[in-house]
Amino acid sequence: MTLSVYTHARCLDHDPGSDHPESPARLAAVLDALGDPRHESIERIEAPRALREQLARVHRSGMIDMILTQAPQSGFHRLDADTVMSPGSAEAALRAAGAVCAAVDAAIAGTRRRAFCAVRPPGHHATPSAPMGFCLFNSVAVGAAHALVQHGLARVAIVDFDVHHGNGTQDIFWNDARVLYASSHQSPLYPGTGSRSETGAGNIVNAPLPPGSGSGAFREAYETIVLPALDAFAPQLVMISAGFDAHRLDPLASLQLTGDDYAWVTARLVELAERHALGRIVSSLEGGYSLEGLRESTLAHVDALSA
Ligand SMILES: [Zn+2]
Repeated sequence: MTLSVYTHARCLDHDPGSDHPESPARLAAVLDALGDPRHESIERIEAPRALREQLARVHRSGMIDMILTQAPQSGFHRLDADTVMSPGSAEAALRAAGAVCAAVDAAIAGTRRRAFCAVRPPGHHATPSAPMGFCLFNSVAVGAAHALVQHGLARVAIVDFDVHHGNGTQDIFWNDARVLYASSHQSPLYPGTGSRSETGAGNIVNAPLPPGSGSGAFREAYETIVLPALDAFAPQLVMISAGFDAHRLDPLASLQLTGDDYAWVTARLVELAERHALGRIVSSLEGGYSLEGLRESTLAHVDALSA
């Protein structure tokens, strides 16, 4: 199956500082992995900018204004302890959210049913009203809202296997039963949300994993919690918040996953999309802070998305 990759060179221009783990080198490592000869058939598409009306479906107007106007002319502007803007940050964030919307458009049109958005900054911590946790706009949430509003879908699933809980995505869709948000994540860990008891309107499914959990616990959580909920929901579009910071090499967390685990979970989600969603699956990069772990995980993820 042909895989489309949405990316933009401006996503390399968001620079939170040389000592920050969310570095441009992360995206360079992902793009390097996508350059592997076995991925010659991948179609590369330049991501457009997200439109304000697309962002405004999930973010308050004041937050959008802040991100679009507060990037510094030079140096850095610190939004919170973890989240920093540089001169290129707003453009990178617009391209990241725009990539996901364009991928949703093409998946629903049936022209490009499988997509991976190789973009940064990540998005899943960004709430309706605030950037946080390295995230500016919540790109996957913007894409899901685009599928609901622009295309009239009734059921969109977001599966988030980043090692951190996607508190922003959960907040955005807390009362919206058209979206099933399912997350596996290390707990305890930043941002501290994501317990099993957080269920929204019955549309939030959290599978917290204790530090040190490895392949067995991860796969069991999908087989017993996440995948059954997704099958019961029968999504018309499957979206993935693809963070690779649960990899065993990652410096920010201590789940012990390998490339094989990312291949396995991606293959299960492709099967789910084929079963319920006409094969429509849109994945977007979230975290992942070991460059070697990112390369291995991206290859495994993209191989499974292309199979
Ligand atoms: Zn993360």
